[in-house]
Amino acid sequence: MCDNGDPEDKPPAPPVRMSSTIFSTSSGKDSLSTNHSSKPLPSVPEERKRYKIISIFTGAEKISRKKDKDKERPEISPPSDFEHTIHVGFDAVTGEFTGMPEQWARLLQTSNITKSEQKKNPQAVLDVLKFYDSTGNGRQKYLSFSSSGESLNIDDDDDDDDDGTPPPVVAPRPEHTKSATDRQRKKSKMSDEEIMDKLRTIVSIGDPKKKYTRYEKIGQGASGTVFTAIDVATGQEVAIKQINLQKQPKKELIINEILVMKELKNPNIVNFLDSFLMGEELFVVMEYLAGGSLTDVVTETCMDEAQIAAVCRECLQALDFLHANQVIHRDIKSDNVLLGMDGSVKLTDFGFCAQITPEQSKRSTMVGTPYWMAPEVVTRKAYGPKVDIWSLGIMAIEMVEGEPPYLNENPLRALYLIATNGTPELQNPEKLSPVFRDFLNRCLEMDVEKRGGGKELLQHPFLKLAKPLSSLTPLILAAKEAMKGSR
Ligand code: ATP
Ligand code: MG
Repeated sequence: MCDNGDPEDKPPAPPVRMSSTIFSTSSGKDSLSTNHSSKPLPSVPEERKRYKIISIFTGAEKISRKKDKDKERPEISPPSDFEHTIHVGFDAVTGEFTGMPEQWARLLQTSNITKSEQKKNPQAVLDVLKFYDSTGNGRQKYLSFSSSGESLNIDDDDDDDDDGTPPPVVAPRPEHTKSATDRQRKKSKMSDEEIMDKLRTIVSIGDPKKKYTRYEKIGQGASGTVFTAIDVATGQEVAIKQINLQKQPKKELIINEILVMKELKNPNIVNFLDSFLMGEELFVVMEYLAGGSLTDVVTETCMDEAQIAAVCRECLQALDFLHANQVIHRDIKSDNVLLGMDGSVKLTDFGFCAQITPEQSKRSTMVGTPYWMAPEVVTRKAYGPKVDIWSLGIMAIEMVEGEPPYLNENPLRALYLIATNGTPELQNPEKLSPVFRDFLNRCLEMDVEKRGGGKELLQHPFLKLAKPLSSLTPLILAAKEAMKGSR
C-alpha cells in the first residue's frame, strides 16, 4: 500500500512507495533480504524483492498427459503414467477428510487453511490440493473421487489438451516470477532434432555478433540472458535474449514464444525484430524498453488512478489484439509488462501463450503464476481468454497496493482463497473512485460469462480517466531512483 499520503495531491515528484520489499521469506535459499542498504550495487537489475519464496511451484509441471498415438503404442512399459482413482471423503461431523493421500494431508496440515474453511468448502480444498500437487509433484493422475462420508468430486477435466502444445508450467512468483520449466519431464513432444529443424526454418542467417555491437548484459531470466546491443546497420538499440538451447528443458516453449512474437505485431507488444541460431545458441532480437518492468513501478512508487487507467488501457489493447488472434497470454502480471521511457506500455513473455481454435476455444491447462490466476484456472475448469482479464484485474490491484492479493498467505491457502473468496477485496476500497471499483469488479468477476471481455472493457468509463502515457515517465524515473537508493 502507498502509505505516504494521498498521491493525487502531491505533484510534481511522484510518490514513492514506502512499504515495498517488506516480505521476508519462509524458505532459505531463495530468500530475498528486506534490507538492501548493505548490498553492493549489482551489475544487473536485481530480482524482485517483495515475494515470499514458494518452492513448491518451481519445476512445476502438470501431470503427464500422453498423446493418443502414445497410448496406442503396443510395447509394454512400466506403469509410469497410469491413472489412479482415489476415494476421498469428508466427514461433516468431525470435519475430517477420509482417504486423503498422505502427501495431501501433510500439505493441508501446514497450509493454514482453517478447519472451518475446510468445513465450509471441502471441495475447494480438494480442488486446490489437486492443483497444487499436480503443479509441484505430478506423479499420479487422480481421476475421480468417490464417497466415504460425503462424496467429493475431483474429476480430471483436462484430457482435451493433447494438442501438441507444451505442457503447462506454473511460474513461481518468487524467483522473480521466473517461468521455471519442468526438469522432470520425461519426454518432449518433439525430438531435439525436430526442434532444431523447426528453429532453422524460423531464424535468419547471419552472425548476430556482427550485426549488433556493444552487448551489455541487463538481465537474466529462466531461459537465458538478456543484453542490450546496437544494430550496426541502423544504430537502433535493441534487446537480445541469448538462449542456450542445450540447457532448455522445454524447447517448445521457446519456439512458441518466437512464433507468437514474430507473427503478432502490435504497438502494445514487445516487438520481435529478428532471430539467429549459432550452434546451440539462439539469439532473439527484440525492441528494447528502457523503462524496466511495471513491477518496478508498482513496488517502488504510487500510481494515481489516471496513470493506472492509462496502463490498463494499453494492456487491454494488447489483450484485445491477442484474443482476436486466438491467443491467450496466460501469464499477465506486472513483471510481464515492460515500459518505454516515454511511457509506452508493452506486453512480453509469450512462452506460455496458447493458441485457441474455434473448435477448441477453452483449455484446461494450468499455466501462469498462482497469485494472478483466475478461479477457473485454480479449480481446473476449462478456460478461455478471459483468464487474461482476471489477471489484468489482479495487476490493477498491484498498481494500487503494490502486490497481488494473498501474497503473504501460504500458497495453498492463497489458492483456496482464490477459489472460494470470489472477487478479492481491496485493503482500502474507499480510497478508490466508484468508476475504478466498477472496472475492477468487471475484471474480477467470478462468473466467466459475466466477466468483461477485452473489447468491452476498452469502452469502460474508467479508461476515460487515463492521463497521457508521458505521465508514467516520472514514475519510471522515481522507481529507478528508489531502486538505486535501496541497494
Ligand atoms: P523468463 O525466462 O521466464 O522470461 P524473465 O522474464 O525473468 O524470465 P527474461 O524475459 O529473460 O527473464 O528477462 C530478463 C530481464 O531482462 C528482465 O528483467 C526483463 O525485464 C529484461 N528484459 C527482457 N526483455 C526486455 C526488453 N525487450 N527490453 C528491456 N528489458 C528487457
Ligand atoms: Mg521474461
